[in-house]
Amino acid sequence: INIDEILQPTLDVVINSLRDLEKADGKEMKITGGIFVLNNETAKLNLSAIQGMTPDMLGCKGVVPLGECMCGISAMSGEIAYAPNCTSDPHHTCRPTGVEDHSHICIPLKSGNNVCGIISLRLYPAGYQLRPSDTAIFTSIGNYLGLHIEKARLYKEVQEQAIRDGLTRLFNRMEFQRQLQIEVERSARYNGEFTLLLLDIDHFKRLNDTYGHQVGDEALKALAGILTRGIRLVDMAARYGGEEFVIILPQTSIEGALIIAERLRSRVAANTIKTDAGDISMTISIGLASFPVDEKTTDGLIKKADIALYSAKENGRNMTCKFSDVAPL
Ligand code: GH3
Ligand code: MG
Ligand code: MG
Repeated sequence: INIDEILQPTLDVVINSLRDLEKADGKEMKITGGIFVLNNETAKLNLSAIQGMTPDMLGCKGVVPLGECMCGISAMSGEIAYAPNCTSDPHHTCRPTGVEDHSHICIPLKSGNNVCGIISLRLYPAGYQLRPSDTAIFTSIGNYLGLHIEKARLYKEVQEQAIRDGLTRLFNRMEFQRQLQIEVERSARYNGEFTLLLLDIDHFKRLNDTYGHQVGDEALKALAGILTRGIRLVDMAARYGGEEFVIILPQTSIEGALIIAERLRSRVAANTIKTDAGDISMTISIGLASFPVDEKTTDGLIKKADIALYSAKENGRNMTCKFSDVAPL
């Protein structure tokens, strides 16, 4: 299921078997190769496994654009590309310097008609003659590996979808609960601290009523973008509910978190969202609670951040409020 665990062993088996077959035929050959996986977004093949050489011996630095050189041509056409002598083959444009002459075979990795990568083989010395039986074997290897790469990709996608919110692509509430539990346990174990932010859009119902739900959805996506760009990779932003968001700031005291919360709040307020209904703007209110000073449990932290958020709303909205500042009832 994990692509990285499939590629290297498969490449090793392909190269070793081919070498053994040639040996049984009375030929000593040196065979090296690599597997390139296609990134559909960049339309580039990226080196993902290698045997018998180093990436700098490739001449392409491990990245081949679709349609370029023999690997790119094979990935584009979905056909095996073969050159008995790479130095004299005009398709072999990405030539490494100082590498002795060799035969070159590129096998497309296919799932149905979709190419998802390439196995690139170098056979030394040059002059290897491709037999019809080779083509049959290489085709089935390419189809086998292609299918598994596609399966692994789908699995990863399903896993990702299970933890993401469909509209904003932020983490969903379930994943947030899981991460919060981990953060509580980690901080308790290492005597650490962290802060939880609970954010809510101000008068969002009004925005929906005025411009319609589609514009409301655009606003939610824009907000998610501001939050993602405004925090670090180790922080976590999630959609808690309709127009409520949460952020976990690991190893961050309440004072540090206040600075981040204020930065996010002012960025949202200063931002203009361009929609079909015209330019709109919005504000958010934020409540903060810290582990362990305010609470030591997940539910307790959410509750106290919510109390702080309620206070920010009560005091006029477009505001950040920390739990310890909320006057007891
Ligand atoms: P306040 O400042 O007190 O938070 O006012 P508010 O109007 O934002 O608060 P309230 O909780 O009353 O309204 C939240 C609204 O958010 C209600 C609902 O129509 C809207 N909403 C919730 N989820 C979505 C969504 O996925 N898309 C859109 N467009 N609107 C949503
Ligand atoms: Mg709300
Ligand atoms: Mg609201």
